[in-house]
Amino acid sequence: MNFDFARNKMVQEQIIARGVTDRRVIDAMLKIPRHIFVQEAFALQAYSDTALPIGEKQTISQPYMVALMTELLSLTGNEKVLEIGTGSGYQTAILATLANRVYSAERIRPLALRARKCLDSLKLFNVMLRINDNEGSPIGWDEEAPFDAIIVTAGAPSVPSILTEQLAAGGRLVIPVGTDSDQQLIKIVKSSVGELESFVSVGCRFVPLIGRQGWQALP
Ligand code: SAH
Repeated sequence: MNFDFARNKMVQEQIIARGVTDRRVIDAMLKIPRHIFVQEAFALQAYSDTALPIGEKQTISQPYMVALMTELLSLTGNEKVLEIGTGSGYQTAILATLANRVYSAERIRPLALRARKCLDSLKLFNVMLRINDNEGSPIGWDEEAPFDAIIVTAGAPSVPSILTEQLAAGGRLVIPVGTDSDQQLIKIVKSSVGELESFVSVGCRFVPLIGRQGWQALP
């Protein structure tokens, strides 16, 4: 399998063809090897147009969704970014390539540990990971707020105010909101005076965001 060829094809056919135009996002998607973030058994499918299982009943998002969400954050390189749901660490790696610093929180320890190894192997040392495996722990990373951009890669029942509070003036939040099986990607922009404006992007389907302002964990 020629992974470089497959990745190029993925970017042309799934990302550029569907309307992503941010050159920095496109270059990051061309650069970061998605196949190292999936389980070995799925390596040959790493560049296919789909989400894939990563263990622990979680999934790595579809490449187009990663590109679209990243484009919606309008990163220029100087930002301090918060990600909720490290998962495989693939989206984290894209963010780390495009922003100054990335703070990423994950509630499942084995996923966070594996993601750390992948990010280190790519020498992406501007990523801080936090494991939020305490059931009652609040969503986000209050101590490091405010953030210029926040991305949530799990679906929430509504926009958690705990996250809009952690957004800087001028900051962008991108989050899937809806039921457990049907969500819409929402972008929220905080104005310089702290007003929130929201925009609806595409329909999507993510695993649930667990926590006090998310869903209750399944037994
Ligand atoms: N961006 C990841 C997506 C992983 S799936 C990738 O492409 O690989 C979403 C992840 O969110 C899961 O790993 C899940 O454990 C995590 N998650 C759910 N609720 C969370 C919370 N409150 N805090 C941190 N992570 C959470």
